[in-house]
Amino acid sequence: MGVGTYGAQPVYLDYNATAPPRPEALKATVDALHAVGNASSIHHHGSEAATRVDQARRQLADLLNCSPGEIIFASGATEANNLALHAAYAQHGVITTSAVEHPAVLHTARALTAGTPDALVTLPVDADGRVDPEVFRAAVQQHGPVIVSLMLANNETGVITDLAPMIEVAHAAGALVHTDATQYVGRLPVDLGDLDVDLLSLSGHKFGGPQGVGALFIRRGTPLPQRPLIVGGGHERGWRAGTLNVPGIAGLGAAAEAAQRQLDDEVPRIAKLRDLLEGELLGRLPGAYVNGAGSPRLPGVTSITIPGAPADAVLASMPEIAASDGSACSAGAPSPSHVLLAMGLRREAADSTLRLSLGYATTEPEIRRAIDATARAATHVQAVMKATAGR
Ligand code: PMP
Repeated sequence: MGVGTYGAQPVYLDYNATAPPRPEALKATVDALHAVGNASSIHHHGSEAATRVDQARRQLADLLNCSPGEIIFASGATEANNLALHAAYAQHGVITTSAVEHPAVLHTARALTAGTPDALVTLPVDADGRVDPEVFRAAVQQHGPVIVSLMLANNETGVITDLAPMIEVAHAAGALVHTDATQYVGRLPVDLGDLDVDLLSLSGHKFGGPQGVGALFIRRGTPLPQRPLIVGGGHERGWRAGTLNVPGIAGLGAAAEAAQRQLDDEVPRIAKLRDLLEGELLGRLPGAYVNGAGSPRLPGVTSITIPGAPADAVLASMPEIAASDGSACSAGAPSPSHVLLAMGLRREAADSTLRLSLGYATTEPEIRRAIDATARAATHVQAVMKATAGR
């Protein structure tokens, strides 16, 4: 069994929902689970646990090119996004974000600014999922010291935000910049020596660490009031109380180190497989199109709209493939993807969109299987829809 078919027969193409744990992460997590010790205890066992945490902090800092002291461990990117925005909003009065952010940002921003609608600016995106830099500039300059929160890469389309020039504009206007880099970290190199964000959120399970652990990077010297969401024993320098999740943190660290070592090989290999998948599906399914195709995108995801083929029916017709319709985070919710609607898709098109996401363990035979299965299932669903239309 390859890791790409993790735990079952279906080809696993849902890396943007969660990636299979990397072997290195599994080992580090299990090793830590076997050990006794609270990282806060001063005896032998405690310091052993603290050593695992220190190592993971270093491994993650190396991946991001930041200092270990700039990392706060949390339960995932949802919490990291909440933490970042709560603290930033306590200091700066307006949140500027985009219509395609993850709910962990959008809903947090809405909750924080409820009752003060002027304190939330949600920028539109174009048909390729990008914020217009001029619209961004105008918004930031108009509202004075703001918090900018823009994702580094979109979870549904993989569209990458060209953040560097926006950071300059934002900082020149006295803004604080947060990025939700959950889908980007461990998939493409991040260099925080270059990328001058003040705050960055990530989640371990998107790049082969365990679920339920993530981190917030806070750049040293950032003028940010401390607003912990979880108050207690003052762990993580007061930012996040609670006994540290040592097995999870150790796994995240090991995944970070493995990703850093392997990214140079993984990125072109994954991009080639994604291009094969996309090219074949576009060739076999007339009228199909890729969302965000005009933008730089993550190497491992395709968001493909297949007119006349509702994605839920397509997925039900190909149980041999594990993939998503729109975002897995809102799976089960009947509402269409807010990301695709913001990019101008009509509801019917949004509902006929598949998200196939691959990663470090995906193989070419798996992709060939997925191409055949998807083309067959979509063609079948289109035929059924046509036959039943107007009945
Ligand atoms: N932001 C983005 C862009 C995501 O894709 C996700 C996970 N779907 C999150 C935040 C939340 O991550 P987690 O569920 O691990 O907290």
